[in-house]
Amino acid sequence: MTLIYQSTRDAKNTVTASQAILKGLATDGGLYTPTDFPDITLDFNQLKDLSYQDIAKKILAAFLDDFTPEEIAYCVDNAYDDKFDTELIAPIVKLHGQYHLELFHGSTIAFKDMALSILPYLMITAAKKQGVDHKIVILTATSGDTGKAAMAGFADVPGTEIIVFYPKNGVSRIQELQMITQKGENTHVLAIDGNFDDAQTSVKEMFNDKTLRATLLEKGMQLSSANSMNIGRLVPQIVYYVYAYAQLLKKGEIENGELINFSVPTGNFGNILAAFYATKIGVPVGKLICASNENNVLTDFFKTATYDKNRPFKVTSSPSMDILVSSNLERLVFHLVGNDAEKTRDLMEQLTSIGSYQLTVKDTAILELFAAGFANEKQTSQDIARVYLENHYVEDPHTAVASSVYKAYQESTNDNTKTVVISTASPYKFPTVVVNALLETKTTDDFVAVNELEKRSQVVIPKAVDGIENEPIRHQTTIATKDMKETVERYLGL
Ligand SMILES: *Cc1c(COP(=O)(O)O)cnc(C)c1O
Repeated sequence: MTLIYQSTRDAKNTVTASQAILKGLATDGGLYTPTDFPDITLDFNQLKDLSYQDIAKKILAAFLDDFTPEEIAYCVDNAYDDKFDTELIAPIVKLHGQYHLELFHGSTIAFKDMALSILPYLMITAAKKQGVDHKIVILTATSGDTGKAAMAGFADVPGTEIIVFYPKNGVSRIQELQMITQKGENTHVLAIDGNFDDAQTSVKEMFNDKTLRATLLEKGMQLSSANSMNIGRLVPQIVYYVYAYAQLLKKGEIENGELINFSVPTGNFGNILAAFYATKIGVPVGKLICASNENNVLTDFFKTATYDKNRPFKVTSSPSMDILVSSNLERLVFHLVGNDAEKTRDLMEQLTSIGSYQLTVKDTAILELFAAGFANEKQTSQDIARVYLENHYVEDPHTAVASSVYKAYQESTNDNTKTVVISTASPYKFPTVVVNALLETKTTDDFVAVNELEKRSQVVIPKAVDGIENEPIRHQTTIATKDMKETVERYLGL
């Protein structure tokens, strides 16, 4: 039986996995979402001895079931190789009172590499399967990390073109340098004068633009997405939740079957949705802790079942989570209302027209699986200092949000379930924030901070940032948000 991916806004719009990956987004504005979950037995006594790649092959084969085992193996083996600086791919570290699952060992030192190292292979394979010979144009809005990781994956991949939009004043200097120095004839990077939500809204509008789609087709092109709206991003992210559980068992930290919690620093709700899907196939989980920064729209959502984006957008020290319209929440909402596409469409239309919606939850068991909280700027910086003092270990500000929210959750609930904090970026990606949290002296220069960090962390400077200040700048255009579509048309010669 082939797994069906259905649009969250139209029960009749169904596709297979490879079709969903190729399209990225449903043209009715919805997101392709599994309505049933694959029947797969997770025997952790066996899984604990498997490599990351072997676990990836199992999970991907189950969810992407119109790919052959050979195709899956080709994608996995090319993605998770020595681009990662550790053979473990996603090592788990034991700290005082918590575990950290490090997802920043890929080429751009943020967790986006976990999925974006494999997405280009999945997409090219899907195109071949579907007999598509159009050029695939990847349009991507980024809050800082997706853009770089997607370009690193798609640079000079034949038959693809990639255009990335980032908020000019919404990313760290290192994130910006990583993007604007990107090589590859098929890569294009643009700063916009708006924030991430503006970029993401405009990208979604282009996907839903019938005229644009028709013009592209005439020129032999079609759009796809590298954002976590693409299930080709989500499914590879399920793998590390299975792997984390298997590794804890292997290290003797847990008994087989024991429930564990995950605390996930959340922006677009992709990472934590993958955790939810991991529970659906049998990873034993007590709570999924949804951790936000001061853009705490999700904290309120889990407390009140009301989503209200009508609030000031805050620029924080964890920029990859500065998001008020959390795209992937639409998938959870779809499950919460009992996989009802009509209801989901209705709620999403309210979000567009009045900026909020209130939902009547049908599947309360799903809601009970989640806990939610947020950390303000001070709490985030205090957590970086606390974890350093307790462990001599330096966490990045996104990870610190999840760690701080977990600590507050644990203190208020006395839930002593073993908890894994999802560690989404290397501290070297946000060095000034980290160094200022650790030291009395305050610096504003990322590169002074990088050197300072090397002294404190005893982790060598990763290749991704070493010498980046001397790389030639290859992209330096800033445009108005309203000109995004026109710019895409110009770049593609439409
Ligand atoms: C993207 C990102 C997040 C948020 O992940 P979502 O899947 O959007 O919820 C958290 N931390 C870092 C470092 C990121 O790059």
